[in-house]
Amino acid sequence: MSQDLWREAQNYFAGGVNSPVRAAVRPYPFYVKGGRGAYLITEDSEELIDYVLGYGPLILGHAHQNVVRRVKEQLERGWLYGTPSRAEVELARKIVRHVPSAQKVRFVNSGTEATMTAIRLARGFTGRKRILKFDGNYHGAHDWLLVDAGSAASEFGVATSKGIPEEVSNLVSVCSYNDLTCPEKVLSKEDVAAVILEPVMGNMGVIPPEDGFLSGLRELTRTYGSVLIFDEVITGFRLGLSGAQGHYRVVPDLTTLGKIIGGGFPIGAVCGKREIMDQLTPSGKVFNAGTFNANPISMVGGLATIEELEKGKAYTTSERAAKELSEEIDESIRIPHVVNRVYNFFQFFLGVTSVSTAKEARESRRELYVKIHERLLKEKVFIPPSQFETLFTSEAHDSEVVSRSIEAFKRVLVDIN
Ligand code: PMP
Repeated sequence: MSQDLWREAQNYFAGGVNSPVRAAVRPYPFYVKGGRGAYLITEDSEELIDYVLGYGPLILGHAHQNVVRRVKEQLERGWLYGTPSRAEVELARKIVRHVPSAQKVRFVNSGTEATMTAIRLARGFTGRKRILKFDGNYHGAHDWLLVDAGSAASEFGVATSKGIPEEVSNLVSVCSYNDLTCPEKVLSKEDVAAVILEPVMGNMGVIPPEDGFLSGLRELTRTYGSVLIFDEVITGFRLGLSGAQGHYRVVPDLTTLGKIIGGGFPIGAVCGKREIMDQLTPSGKVFNAGTFNANPISMVGGLATIEELEKGKAYTTSERAAKELSEEIDESIRIPHVVNRVYNFFQFFLGVTSVSTAKEARESRRELYVKIHERLLKEKVFIPPSQFETLFTSEAHDSEVVSRSIEAFKRVLVDIN
């Protein structure tokens, strides 16, 4: 039972878990023994409709048969060679074909590693130190960018983690999202190596870029000689094959990817302009290496996933699901609120009527959101336990799954109004 595992886990793990947001499920996290399509199966043998989807990667749903088959075939042939393998070339070919900014790629093992590597690359390329990021954007758990970060850092009130020297965090300037005045000021005064952002914010709930924000940053970084990095760890291959940069038609210098490109297996990637990417070792002097970089399981899992995505069905189904469910939620909530949706991911905020910055997201009635999360669990629907995460849909969220979810939401929201 989940409760027994949770009790024992207290002995082994800080706060009982291995990633903080997992502890936010009350009274204790449910433990999962399986996943199938849109459903999670818990140790307590409950079937939950899943809108978390591993925090984004599972755009085909759980245990998609073609991914299972391809990864099994790879397992039979071994799973780690310490040499290049065919699958890495095939996956890179897909990324270069679909992602507008991608001329070359480096595979790493997580989104965290991807942004860490992109920052080092930008610094190595420009010879500058300062980084500009945006309040509420989350780029992973490493020292360079853990300043005013979203996701679990916001949930647990960690503006800057203990253990990060101030010499490091002082190198980061933070501006408010959807505002161009602050970046203009910083870029004109300081030598900035890189401006990094989520082109759609997915770590304070969902916050879309306002018209002109992304293109404005493109212009500013070009003027002042800074590297523009789009962190597309969430949006890459979620907003269509070309990600947010294709969707909004703004091409950055570097892009970080993760999540979907590994099909749910551990992965990260930096890609971008040839002249910047060539600074990486062994062709250049910016160091990166990894025992598990481009490991065959993640490569094949990603390849099988992207091949499915190219068929188009996952995008139409996941968008329809997100649209229908978010519209029903919008209609069913009677108190002041706003629902922010971009394509196939969304979040709702209560007690506020517009959210375009992290500050506004923090002003929402989080205690009510948590209550909805808890009630929904009783109705066998799993949405993120934190206001600062997002609801994702997948190819497996068909009309039956969506109708069941809508009924559950309606029952829960009646009590909230
Ligand atoms: N960037 C963004 C935009 C993310 O959402 C995340 C994780 N949610 C990361 C980077 C870090 O990725 P990982 O958890 O794989 O290290």
